[in-house]
Amino acid sequence: MAERQKIAVLKERATGETRVSASPETVKKLTALGALVAVETGAGDTASISDADYAAAGAEVGPLDSVLAGADIVFGVQGPDAALLGGVKPGAWIVAGLDPFGQRARIDAYAAAGLEALAMEFMPRITRAQSMDILSSQSNLAGYKAVIEAAGHYGRAFPMMMTAAGTVSAAKAFIMGVGVAGLQAIATARRLGAQVSATDVRSATKEQIQSLGAKPIFVENVAGIEGEGSGGYATEMSEEYQKAQAELVSSHIAKQDIVITTALIPGRAAPRLITDAQIATMKPGSVIFDLAAPQGGNVEGCVADQIVVRHGVKIVGYSNTPALLPADASALFSRNLFNFLSAFWDKEAGKPVLDEEIGDAIRLTKGGQVVNARLLA
Ligand code: NAD
Repeated sequence: MAERQKIAVLKERATGETRVSASPETVKKLTALGALVAVETGAGDTASISDADYAAAGAEVGPLDSVLAGADIVFGVQGPDAALLGGVKPGAWIVAGLDPFGQRARIDAYAAAGLEALAMEFMPRITRAQSMDILSSQSNLAGYKAVIEAAGHYGRAFPMMMTAAGTVSAAKAFIMGVGVAGLQAIATARRLGAQVSATDVRSATKEQIQSLGAKPIFVENVAGIEGEGSGGYATEMSEEYQKAQAELVSSHIAKQDIVITTALIPGRAAPRLITDAQIATMKPGSVIFDLAAPQGGNVEGCVADQIVVRHGVKIVGYSNTPALLPADASALFSRNLFNFLSAFWDKEAGKPVLDEEIGDAIRLTKGGQVVNARLLA
């Protein structure tokens, strides 16, 4: 019989991180696979999961040293500092959201420590990996929360209301960037009763916007642009397109009460979609929520974790929006990690064994080296 794999679940140490990388449900399932799960004391506190809940699910709960001792796999929401990880097995896996472009020094330190770092945000966008995709699960919740936060900062109501004292008109909400977060933002704003419009550079999103009952706002007159790069992601647009998009947005945005921006281009700073001059055309009291704030922001003047008021318009954006929904965000994140390990669990070996397609995509370090093509490019 192979030795049981030990999975260490750490308490997150990054400022503002409230999530946790395993739930009692996934502890149970990982144990059923044949693993031993060790959870650091207090790891679930901020996600409303107690040590007793983990213990009841079959985890060993204890201090950092004992959790890490002899661990084969270390789970995290964000990457733990390499210096923290003394005591794990040589070549142990780090399975987490590792922010490979933003935290390069930490990745180098994993390599130097001989660890095998697996960046879950590099999971390929292929059908069989959908259930392992942390970007999707977290973006979905972030798109919802962006609308709820914007509504909280808005001094008016979202739905039209006919009252004895007169009519309240419906809010107009505009969603810029219709990936996973944007689609959920459209659905949430619609459920709250707003009149919703949306835009993207990928023409495939047009039908998706319509099917959610929102109005597509698209650049039509610049030829030959589909805006779709590899894996369904956006690419950087031509200057001509950017100019046409800016004109279109300028005329539309002046009439909006709520704007949610979600536009991202993998491995690059977020594209600038809204300028200060455009904000000046909006009605005072309008709210812009910038979900791209952690990647530099889509909105001029946005400062992460601050409410900035420009021309009477509130600009809101957080460095970690999913962390505002710690219980659900942790539940989904934890399932992503479980789905990943269980898909590759080799019963005979008693441990996960990766294939090339997914392994090569997510593996950042191995054998003392940085090995990922996207980091070496
Ligand atoms: P993302 O977070 O990378 O970007 C958000 C959106 O911003 C995208 O729709 C992008 O096209 C858009 N955008 C970029 N630049 C823009 C600009 N200048 N103006 C307006 N919009 C701009 O995207 P995402 O949520 O990760 O989704 C990207 C794609 O991946 C989608 O097609 C999605 O359906 C697909 N996807 C596939 C899987 C899977 O098959 N496993 C999982 C998740 C997502």
